[in-house]
Amino acid sequence: MAEKIRVIVDEDKCYLCGGCAGVCPALAIRVSASKWEFFQDKCISCRTCVNACPVGALSAEPLEGEP
Ligand code: SF4
Ligand code: SF4
Repeated sequence: MAEKIRVIVDEDKCYLCGGCAGVCPALAIRVSASKWEFFQDKCISCRTCVNACPVGALSAEPLEGEP
């Protein structure tokens, strides 16, 4: 089974383009005019968003100790 991850945003790099939210197959990211939001319960740990961000603002860290 694939490793579960948490997606983290670097707010200094993110310019809220919405690209990551657009490619997320699980609707686990929501981007509005003022903020980037991540919903851990929806994320399927596919890393598509991390690879899609044009400025490398997203990174993944292992989610440990979760059931
Ligand atoms: S794709 Fe990158 S720059 Fe665009 S909203 Fe997502 S994290 Fe921010
Ligand atoms: S890792 Fe996959 S499911 Fe999780 S937020 Fe990124 S694109 Fe969505």
